Amino acid sequence: MAGIYVHIPFCKKKCIYCDFYSIAAKPGIIDEYVGAVCREAIVRGGALQGEAVRTVYIGGGTPSLLSVGQLSRMVDGLRSAFDLSAVEEFTIEVNPDDVSGEVVRAYVDLGINRVSMGVQSFIDSELRFLNRRHDAMRAVDAYESIISNGISNVSIDLIYGIPGQTLQSWRQSLDMAMRLRPSHISCYSLSYEEGTRLYRMLRSHLIQEVGDETCVKMYELMARVLEDNGYEHYEISNFALPGQYSRHNSSYWDKTPYLGLGASAHSYAGGVRYYNPDSIKSYIDGIACGKAVAVGEELSLCERYDEEVMLRLRTSKGIDAGALRGAYGIPFYDYFMSVVKRFVDSGLMECDGSRYRLSRKGVMLSDMIMRELMYV
Ligand code: SF4
Repeated sequence: MAGIYVHIPFCKKKCIYCDFYSIAAKPGIIDEYVGAVCREAIVRGGALQGEAVRTVYIGGGTPSLLSVGQLSRMVDGLRSAFDLSAVEEFTIEVNPDDVSGEVVRAYVDLGINRVSMGVQSFIDSELRFLNRRHDAMRAVDAYESIISNGISNVSIDLIYGIPGQTLQSWRQSLDMAMRLRPSHISCYSLSYEEGTRLYRMLRSHLIQEVGDETCVKMYELMARVLEDNGYEHYEISNFALPGQYSRHNSSYWDKTPYLGLGASAHSYAGGVRYYNPDSIKSYIDGIACGKAVAVGEELSLCERYDEEVMLRLRTSKGIDAGALRGAYGIPFYDYFMSVVKRFVDSGLMECDGSRYRLSRKGVMLSDMIMRELMYV
C-alpha cells in the first residue's frame, strides 16, 4: 500500500509562525503549477512500483486557494497517472475562510472524503496575533458547512503556547472543539522557527514566550480534556475518535512508501528519500523539460535506524525492540536496549513485553529522549 502527497505552496498571507514553503500566488501561476503537478504525476507514475494507492493528501500552503476547476483538473491528472480505485482516505487541507457549501459539495464530487482545517484557536485575539485570515465564528461556520455538505471526517489543528494565551483561554478553545467534536484533532505547541516574523518579534523583545511550566500545564490539560471526551492520543500531537486515526499520516510513521508531488515535496520508497526543488520556478521549469525533478538520497543503515526510532517513538504503539533487532541487527539492538533501560527506570518510557513507548511524562521530553536513542 502507498500514499500520494501533493504540495500546494500558495497562501494569501503569511502566518507569523510559519516556516513552510509558501508564497502569495501571482495571477496565472496556480494554473501553471497545476499543469506541472499533472505532468510530474505522469512522469513519476511508475514510482510506486505497482503498490496500490490507499491515501491521497493535498496539503500546503493552502490547497483551498485552488478554484474548483483547478482542483478538478489536478485530481483528473492524478487519476490518469495512478489507479486511485483503492483509495480509502482522500484529504484536503483548507483555510476556514475559503470554505462554502458549494466548495465542499465539489470536494465530495471529486472523491475527497476528509478535510483538515487549520483553526489554531477559537479566540479572536489569538487568531489576530497569529495573522490568521479567519476569526473564531468563521471557523465554526466552516466546520458546520463541511459536515452538513457531506464530509463527516474532519480534522482540526489547534496551537497552544501562543504569547498572551492563558490556561483559561486554551481551555475555551478546547471546549469549543469538544462542542464541535471533529473526528480528529492535531494540537501543536507554538515553535519559534528562525526566519519567521514570530522569531524576529521574540528576538526584539516585542513578545514573551509562554513559560515551560505553563506549556506543560497546557499540554496536560489538552490530553486530559480530549481523553475524557473519548479521543485516543495516538501520536504526540494527534488525537482521534476510535477508528479515525489519520491513515495518511500514520503511513509516514509506519514507513509506508509515499510519493510527494509538487515544489518542496518529499517522497520515500525502499530506503531512498527523494526531494523536489523548493522553488516554484525551478519546479515548473524542471517539469516543463519532461524529466523527474526529484533528487534521490539513499539512507544508510544508521540513518534508517535513527529515522525509524524517531518516527515510531512519536506514536502510542511505540517501538518493538524485537522487530528492531530483526531489521537492523544486534549492534543497533544492543545500543537501543542500553539507552532505553535508563528511560524506563526513570519513568520517562514504558515497557510492555518487547514494546517501548513514551510515558506521559516522557512525551514532554521527547526531543531529548529521541536524541539519546538515535545512533548518530
Ligand atoms: S496558512 Fe498554513 S502554510 Fe500558509 S502561512 Fe499560514 S501556517 Fe503557513
